[in-house]
Amino acid sequence: MIDHAPIKKVIIVGGGTAGWIAAASLSKLLGAVVDIELIESDAIGTVGVGEATIPQIRRLNGVLGIDEREFLRATKATFKLGIEFNNWGRKGDSYLHTFGDAGINLTNLHFHHYWLRSVLSGTESSLWDHSLHHRAAYAHKFAHLERVGKTSMTGLAYAYHFDAGEYALFLRRYAEKAGVTRTEGKVETVQLNPENGYIQSVTLESGKIVKGDLFIDCSGFRGLLIGDALKVQYEDWSHYLPCNRAVAIPCESTTPLLPYTKATAHEAGWQWRIPLQHRTGNGHVYCDGFTDQESATQTLLDNLDGAPTADPKHLRFTTGRRKEFWHKNCVSLGLASGFLEPLESTSIHLIQSNVSRLIQLFPNRDFAQAQIDEYNRLIGKEYDTVRDFLILHYKLTQRDDTEFWRYCRNMEVPDSLTAKMDLFAQNGTIYHDPEDLFRESSWVQVMVGQNLMPSGYHPMADRLDEKQLSDFLGSVKTLIEKSVTPLPAHQDYVAAAVRPS
Ligand SMILES: Cc1cc2nc3c(=O)[nH]c(=O)nc-3n(C[C@H](O)[C@H](O)[C@H](O)COP(=O)(O)OP(=O)(O)OC[C@H]3O[C@@H](n4cnc5c(N)ncnc54)[C@H](O)[C@@H]3O)c2cc1C
Repeated sequence: MIDHAPIKKVIIVGGGTAGWIAAASLSKLLGAVVDIELIESDAIGTVGVGEATIPQIRRLNGVLGIDEREFLRATKATFKLGIEFNNWGRKGDSYLHTFGDAGINLTNLHFHHYWLRSVLSGTESSLWDHSLHHRAAYAHKFAHLERVGKTSMTGLAYAYHFDAGEYALFLRRYAEKAGVTRTEGKVETVQLNPENGYIQSVTLESGKIVKGDLFIDCSGFRGLLIGDALKVQYEDWSHYLPCNRAVAIPCESTTPLLPYTKATAHEAGWQWRIPLQHRTGNGHVYCDGFTDQESATQTLLDNLDGAPTADPKHLRFTTGRRKEFWHKNCVSLGLASGFLEPLESTSIHLIQSNVSRLIQLFPNRDFAQAQIDEYNRLIGKEYDTVRDFLILHYKLTQRDDTEFWRYCRNMEVPDSLTAKMDLFAQNGTIYHDPEDLFRESSWVQVMVGQNLMPSGYHPMADRLDEKQLSDFLGSVKTLIEKSVTPLPAHQDYVAAAVRPS
């Protein structure tokens, strides 16, 4: 018989970033109607990385009603305007994938078409000469800026770099205050209903049995519920995104405090640099088919810009995703649901986006298949488009100095990505679905930054005559200069924001 009764008890297994984002969000929006219990094992611990974000994180903090200054203080956060990619197109190349549009869009046509017209007619100019974010980032400046003067140019879109462990603790305090019960202990076994295969309960090492209606698997890479218990398969994307290991080492902070992440390509992978208030997070993501742990660690140590403050931490992963994210009465989140390497800092965003879809499609105890299918369709699509955007960085390399980069250059990529690159190469057009995470300006910056220059531009850009075009491009530059000059140094702005009031 179909049971339309509401869900009464939600069990979250895992207390990493995924578990506590789920607990905080569910308690805020559904805490009045469901009981939430989170089980985590201190002995197992969390993955302990994941410190760079994208601007959508502010939406999560906004929904939770988190005060920004309190958040900055608690998580030792800094502001982030984008990611600097070094050595990706060719060795020595550098570009900034910023969170903002370059220039100003004019009568429904994206700014880059006007810029393309000017460059294709022989003018020397970089797309980033027209980027507010680029100018502010390299002046090491930051402030909250909604809009540029009285123009239609939007101000600084930003995200954060933060200490992942402190963020999970911050959300834990929030969720516990909102009524979430935290149970410390290791889940040893999972009991399934023999008739329908739904999860009935989990049993902890202590012998305690915890029952629930809906189970959320936030147990990390292992996928204790979705994988081990329910046998949902994992789709492996290593052939597109071959990096499968990382070594992470924090080091002492250096000045100036940069308002951006760095992603520097090496021989068989790339290195992240994430500046926090109290330290810099670093890691080398690499493929063990092309280098070994010792060399990868040495490469990272050779490229730190401060003294290491901890021993190297080694991680293994397989890029890909669950074939189903939600199966029966179990929804997987975070590393249990899939992993896309951290090149564009998307994992924490995927957690919050998945939680938000779960809340929109929150089931009754009947677990209607239509809700489950829609959830799986939406999340699958989001994973696929983020995957394509990450592959773009590797595929668009012109490097042939190592076997790894030759593999990336020559690898087959999804048809959806080939179509995007072909369209852009033709006349600078980017097509994306309204719901896609990465929008026109992101695709354009990475493609141009990695030397994919279109051979033409949209004919609408010809509506301006030569003088109008050069005045327009010049005025954008002037406007940006005027807006960035009075901004404070990022370091001073952060210091003022975290100072007790
Ligand atoms: C190298 C690397 C770099 C990354 N960088 C970024 C980044 O810059 N930006 C970004 O957005 N994301 C990044 N990520 C991803 C990010 O770290 C994760 O998405 C995020 O930390 C969520 O992890 P999680 O909560 O799913 O898993 P985990 O942190 O692994 O947490 C798992 C939890 O489950 C618990 N658990 C496991 N088994 C049991 C059991 N049997 N019983 C009880 N509890 C159990 C553990 O104790 C723990 O609390 C990165 C990931 C990696 C690997």
